[in-house]
Amino acid sequence: MCPKHRSEVAALPIYFVAARHGTTVLGESGPSWQPYGIQHARSLGSSRTECGLSALNWRIFWELPFPGTRGPTCPDCLKAVGLEELRARPKDAPRASDE
Ligand SMILES: [Zn+2]
Repeated sequence: MCPKHRSEVAALPIYFVAARHGTTVLGESGPSWQPYGIQHARSLGSSRTECGLSALNWRIFWELPFPGTRGPTCPDCLKAVGLEELRARPKDAPRASDE
């Protein structure tokens, strides 16, 4: 493979939601398999979450790019993938607007 092309691929990490357990959730389009508990980030080919936990027997939700849109998310994983500022808000910060 061309070295230049390889570096471009490596510059695009893709993270998926990983969790210790999963559960079936009934949604508008029927039942779906969703993470249960804290959601961590896991990249392709890694046996660990981005925060360093061994995740060999965890479930990976390939259809859910990290961070997921529902449920609690691991703050260390958010930090590891560079998304901390997107999701983490100080608990005592006033709301910026009425959402
Ligand atoms: Zn994590």
